[in-house]
Amino acid sequence: MLTNYVYKLRPNRTQSSKMSAWIDMLRSQYNWCLGDRICQYSQQFIQGDYCDIRTKGEASPLTCFVSKSGATGNPWKDSKLNKEGKARNPRRSAGDIQITALPELKMARPWYSGIDSTVLQQNVKRLDIAYKNFFEGRGFPKFKNRSNFTSFTFVMGIKIKGNKIYLPKLGWMRFYNSRSIPDGFTIKACAVRKRQNGWYVSIRIEDKSVPEYSATAVGDSPKVIGCDLGITKLVHLSDGYQIKNPKLSTNKKAKRTLKIRQRRVSRKTKGSKNRKKAAIQVGKFHQKISDKRQAYQWKAANLIVSRNVDVIAIEDLNISGMMRRCKVKSDEKTGRFLKNGQSRKKGLNRAIFDASWGDLGLKIEYLAAKQGKIVIKVNPKHSSQECRNCGHIDQSNRDGEKFICVECGYHEHADIGAAKTIRDRALKMVRGDSAKLGVQHLNAQKISPRRTGKRGEFGNLSNQDIKNEIS
Ligand SMILES: [Zn+2]
Repeated sequence: MLTNYVYKLRPNRTQSSKMSAWIDMLRSQYNWCLGDRICQYSQQFIQGDYCDIRTKGEASPLTCFVSKSGATGNPWKDSKLNKEGKARNPRRSAGDIQITALPELKMARPWYSGIDSTVLQQNVKRLDIAYKNFFEGRGFPKFKNRSNFTSFTFVMGIKIKGNKIYLPKLGWMRFYNSRSIPDGFTIKACAVRKRQNGWYVSIRIEDKSVPEYSATAVGDSPKVIGCDLGITKLVHLSDGYQIKNPKLSTNKKAKRTLKIRQRRVSRKTKGSKNRKKAAIQVGKFHQKISDKRQAYQWKAANLIVSRNVDVIAIEDLNISGMMRRCKVKSDEKTGRFLKNGQSRKKGLNRAIFDASWGDLGLKIEYLAAKQGKIVIKVNPKHSSQECRNCGHIDQSNRDGEKFICVECGYHEHADIGAAKTIRDRALKMVRGDSAKLGVQHLNAQKISPRRTGKRGEFGNLSNQDIKNEIS
């Protein structure tokens, strides 16, 4: 089994300033590598082919390090032969080329040799992952700035003794040993991350003898619970149970505190030390909120999963689609911009962000897998507009919390009704292929509660759907 344990580090002054410097250097390396790959791609469209005489590889006359045929490095390095006895294709991926270029980087910029070499390699591999995500349909890799590049990874030479951890080129560092690593687990890697209130290390540990969590088979009549996610209440369950939404960052008090702290920043001279100090206070407040949210979500997920059921049905929401900005409206004659409702939507988007349903869903999946339960994602389309008595779908069926069918007069609590609809849809899916679901193995690593940018299968809800979904 592969899992992650997170600890807070206690670096000394030299270590923490060294790590800050590393992050700055690694960020510029990352950005340079990304820039080079973009540059190489755009050079392909230059008219005519260019050939490197030595390697016979297609090359560009311009200056990019990465080449299309991947042959800028040493083509003879790959000494293994293929089945026909010929040298294997010397083509290498952009990541491989950039990794082999690291010694040159260290020669040209000697301060980079202060960084552990595996950290530099992992930094290039991080870009590979970003590209892989892009080819799988997520966004194009971004150039990083200080706020979104805050970590680096070690894969070798990590040692732990008591409350001290050894990180190559940083030395022994103390940490808060808040829970001990279980026996039999070996350290595979560790990521050091800078957060507002200090440094954290996330240690990846593995024990192959412990099996991954897997779901148990469900019978013909499994107990299913449906969850309807919302904003007024965070979760409505189909058995009538409700979980409150604490609105950690959108309640009145939090908004006021944030406003005051942000005002303190903007009133101070730009570039001054005091402004920096005030900005740190804003950051600390944000971190406090996010820590609280994490804790609350684990509790909520635990409540849902520990109910006496076999299958948990949750909505498959396209959250990024819901949070998209309203389309621009403009006057055809004058070209002036008209009101498009974005300012109204802004508050809604913040509420959606605050509820962070995606993270909650991941936590539910993780805990469910741990207990051998199954999570099914259900298409939530019209789940709160459909009549459960006659099947009539109409927007006007719904009036706030009440659901009254315009066709047959059936009425109930709207959100609990929606949760029941979700439960019934899941039940249909389970009956359809219960055998298939029974053997489904859930990989704990794949569903570890981390932020993923994956798009939902059922995307593109209309604005009306979104309104119904959250109210
Ligand atoms: Zn009806």
